[in-house]
Amino acid sequence: MQTAKDVLKAIKDNDVQYVDFRFTDPRGKWQHVTFDVSMVDEDMFADGIMFDGSSIAGWKAINESDMTLMPDPTTAQMDPFFSASTMTINCDILEPATGEPYNRDPRGIAKKAEAYLQSTGIADTVYVGPEAEFFVFDDVKFMADPYNTGFKLDSSELPTNGDTPYEGGNLGHRIPTKGGYFPVPPLDSAQDMRGEMLAAMKAMGVTVEKHHHEVASAQHELGTKFNTLVRTADEMQIYKYCIHNVAQSYGKTATFMPKPVYGDNGSGMHVHQSLWKGDKPLFAGNKYADLSQECLWYIGGIIKHAKALNAFTNPSTNSYKRLVPGYEAPVLLAYSARNRSASCRIPWTTSPKAKRVEVRFPDPTANPYLAFAAMLMAGLDGIINKIDPGQAMDKDLYDLPPRELKKIPTVCGSLREALASLDKDRAFLKAGGVFNDDFIDSYIELKMAEVARFEMTPHPVEFQMYYSV
Ligand code: GLN
Ligand code: MG
Ligand code: MG
Ligand code: MG
Repeated sequence: MQTAKDVLKAIKDNDVQYVDFRFTDPRGKWQHVTFDVSMVDEDMFADGIMFDGSSIAGWKAINESDMTLMPDPTTAQMDPFFSASTMTINCDILEPATGEPYNRDPRGIAKKAEAYLQSTGIADTVYVGPEAEFFVFDDVKFMADPYNTGFKLDSSELPTNGDTPYEGGNLGHRIPTKGGYFPVPPLDSAQDMRGEMLAAMKAMGVTVEKHHHEVASAQHELGTKFNTLVRTADEMQIYKYCIHNVAQSYGKTATFMPKPVYGDNGSGMHVHQSLWKGDKPLFAGNKYADLSQECLWYIGGIIKHAKALNAFTNPSTNSYKRLVPGYEAPVLLAYSARNRSASCRIPWTTSPKAKRVEVRFPDPTANPYLAFAAMLMAGLDGIINKIDPGQAMDKDLYDLPPRELKKIPTVCGSLREALASLDKDRAFLKAGGVFNDDFIDSYIELKMAEVARFEMTPHPVEFQMYYSV
């Protein structure tokens, strides 16, 4: 669907009863407000919908709270989860007085990043391919290990009838720690559920490719096709929405928390990226791993700005429990075509069209609009300033001797460090007015409140370590 007229026709054709208008807040949560179909007309697409933005964390103060939701007709989809025929439409947030994009709207920022890319003349399209991993648990009581850090057992693969005790019983067909990638059922017991998740996102217009169990017990991944930046961020919201809602319909609960289980793999959101000019793939060339000079500079920009990027790509206090050695998550800021312990991996391919860089530190708590936009800005800064990424690191980075290890920069160790890095290193984000200081400051404030809450809360493990010292 392209225009308001197309949407109004689809509303008739599908006998739509409700239209659900959606937008994404700074933390990355999809929000919605539902209108009876009788309220939806062409004017709504021209004038937008007024709403109170003051209750959205990180947005306006109460005294200037009116904002405009402007529906984007190209995003209209039928929602498969409701008994009443419901259409969803993504919206941009505008300032009601001026009709200008609201500078703290993540989707607006992502749109500006795409426009900035075109204005540089470097490329006209960036393709983004995220791989967001997640866990599915039966019940909140299985979600973590609040008092005993030895929690290891799979949980989603436990029977759901409620009468099998969590401990004991025959665990022979349960997935052990790091044993989930990827034996057939009955070890993998989530085949039907993942199939339904994939079908739901397909029904919502996403091009789906595959699904599989992931390495940790109760951990999964669904594969969808890469797309352009804003469209891929829209699709990531659909992806999470379908996963949460299908899990819920199974009496289970899905989580994109990066590290819900101590001692097993965490959930990443690797992001594959490539630039195109017309039908020319700009990342293919004759340098290292058949990459172009532009691609190496793009990597140089990602590595140079990685610590600031972490504020958007790894925006939770939990994110930094994943970024530790030994769990297929990167720690060192290096690139390589061979090993997955580098922050930037060049996937093996002989096709110039498929040449891309996979940035591996992001995780799925990232707001996709902000994370994709920020990485593009870092990569473009790399190309514009010809930032050399240095030598590729083709050894297993986890096994380097301490002396060599010390020379390689690392990702941030905490959300506090990431926010401080963003505070210092923000000029690259402001090129072309894509991000501005008001937004960056408000984002740091929003996230510092999470840091403070986390740092001031006594942790259960501290009771184990210090209670009886
Ligand atoms: N779960 C790993 C991470 O945290 C990735 C595992 C994989 O997909 N190879 O990034
Ligand atoms: Mg994958
Ligand atoms: Mg994976
Ligand atoms: Mg990957």
